[in-house]
Amino acid sequence: MDAFDNSHIWHPYAKIPNEVPTHLVESAQGVYLVLKNGKQVIDGMSSWWSVIHGYNNPVLNQAITEQLKKMSHVMFGGLTHQPAIDLAKTLINITPDNLTKVFFSDSGSIAVEVALKMALQYWHKQGKTDKQKFITIYGGYHGDTFGAMSLCDPENGMHHLFGDTLAQQVFVKSPSIVAMDEALEDLEQTLSKSANTIAAMILEPVVQGAGGMRIYNPQYLSHAKALCEQYKVLFILDEIATGFGRTGELFALEYVDVEPDILCLGKALTGGYMTLAATLTSDKVATTVGTLMHGPTFMANPLACAVANASIELLLNEPWQDNIARIEKHFYTHLSPLSENDKVASVRILGAIGVVEMVAEIEVEKVQNQLLEGGVWLRPYGKLLYTMPAFTITDDELLLLTNAIKKVTK
Ligand SMILES: *Cc1c(COP(=O)(O)O)cnc(C)c1O
Repeated sequence: MDAFDNSHIWHPYAKIPNEVPTHLVESAQGVYLVLKNGKQVIDGMSSWWSVIHGYNNPVLNQAITEQLKKMSHVMFGGLTHQPAIDLAKTLINITPDNLTKVFFSDSGSIAVEVALKMALQYWHKQGKTDKQKFITIYGGYHGDTFGAMSLCDPENGMHHLFGDTLAQQVFVKSPSIVAMDEALEDLEQTLSKSANTIAAMILEPVVQGAGGMRIYNPQYLSHAKALCEQYKVLFILDEIATGFGRTGELFALEYVDVEPDILCLGKALTGGYMTLAATLTSDKVATTVGTLMHGPTFMANPLACAVANASIELLLNEPWQDNIARIEKHFYTHLSPLSENDKVASVRILGAIGVVEMVAEIEVEKVQNQLLEGGVWLRPYGKLLYTMPAFTITDDELLLLTNAIKKVTK
């Protein structure tokens, strides 16, 4: 812990001074973080889902330094550049066919805000000015800005802190908590009553991340999309956490081949090198929306686009599906048995995501220290101990990771 840091710098979801000590990282290599005392620990979080190829990757390093020699940034208003053009082409190619237009922004939350703006404006332009609200399922997470925050789970999210300032949205039962049929019935009933006030539905496909690390039946997505079409509500998928292979499909929407009207990407987009996000939509939505009143200063930052291009190319040219399958198998073998432990409420696994939900609240500092002693960095929250490592993690490193988890759940 650094004394200055502790008294002057805010960390995520924390107060000053921090209640839980922060650890100084000197460098990072592969799946390892190198801490100040020289200790190397496996980053089981891949820096919040993003560092899919590991740290200090030579291919990504080269892509970003080559771009750096040309230019690190130019404004995107009235100017363009090859890295952005190449990236947009790639994203259009690898996402569903209907998605043909790309809006670049600098973080996932902003990609969600842009999606919400698109949806509101789409209906506004057609005279449907009553369509001002959004619908989503409980247990979600879509970011920390005001629009995104209003669509996070009302209990886990920050709704109680911001009261009336936060837009009141429509929440329906989650297929990750109740049976899929019950969730769909709730959705249909709510849409049949309120669709005239709802612009769009937003969902994290298949895996609800920061809102509770829950997994649900992909079939829900196709049914929800059909209902949204029937009731004239746009369908937004937030693949910021699930995108780029994490769940075992390149995008989680591929489990059922659903075509969203709007798609949000972020996190692993640049392999965790730079902050960058994208909102994709269809010809129809883009044409109807017309001028979109949004334009971040660092929109389509060339360094970020260049490293995103390299990261996606690297991913697609390696046997990433085998890697995810290998990690998933390891989690099934080594984490699933933990569910027999009385202190463990459940174990949930999908692709390169492993979640152990405890019965009791986790003592973060104590557990984090035990994990560090075992050579592993994780950031438990609430009752959740979870990992989503870099896809490049070796079998030996996986064993270290799951052994450390095993130890702290005893
Ligand atoms: C992380 C996340 C966001 C927010 O992205 P930031 O880059 O942190 O703003 C939005 N949606 C989902 C599903 C996420 O996991």
